[in-house]
Amino acid sequence: MTNSSDESAAVGQIRVGIGTDRHRLESGRPLILAGVEIPSPHGPVAHSDGDVILHALSDAMLGAAGSEDIGTLFEDTDPRWKDLSSRRIVEEVLRTIGELGWKPGNIDVVVHLERPKISEHRDAIRSSLAEMLGISIDRVGVKAKTGEGFGPVGQSLAIEAMAVVQLVSAEVR
Ligand code: MG
Repeated sequence: MTNSSDESAAVGQIRVGIGTDRHRLESGRPLILAGVEIPSPHGPVAHSDGDVILHALSDAMLGAAGSEDIGTLFEDTDPRWKDLSSRRIVEEVLRTIGELGWKPGNIDVVVHLERPKISEHRDAIRSSLAEMLGISIDRVGVKAKTGEGFGPVGQSLAIEAMAVVQLVSAEVR
C-alpha cells in the first residue's frame, strides 16, 4: 500500500466510499446484523459471523480512505480470523483509517433480505452502529428491502448489504 502524505486527510476534507457484501443463507444459523442478533429461521454461511452490514461498511470505510479491502486485511483462509466477530473487523478498520487521518462522518446502509422483517430491529441496529463508530444515531441510516419473491434474495437463498460512508478528517491525528 502506498501511503504518501498527500493521501492522508487534511482538515475539512471529506471522502466517500461504497461497500457491498453477500452471504448464502442456511437454516439454523444465527443472523447477526451490525452486532445485533435477530431471531431468524436462517442465517449466513460464513467463515466469520457473516455480518453483512459490518462487512459492507468496513469495505466502504477502507475504500474511502484508499486502503486495502477486508478480503485482503482479513483473508478468509487465515485461521486467526475463523469465527471472528465482525466488531473486531470494524475496530481494526477504524484504527487503519484513523492512522490515515480519517473518521466516519455519516453512513447509509441497505439490507436485502426476504425474511424475517428487520424493521422492528432497525433502531437497535442503528444504535449499535452509532456506538461502534462513535457518531450520533442521526448520522446512521439503515433501510431494509425484500427481494419481492424472486432472485437469490427473494428466494431466501442469500442476504446482501450495501453501505455508503462519508469520512471526515479526524481532528486529532
Ligand atoms: Mg461477508
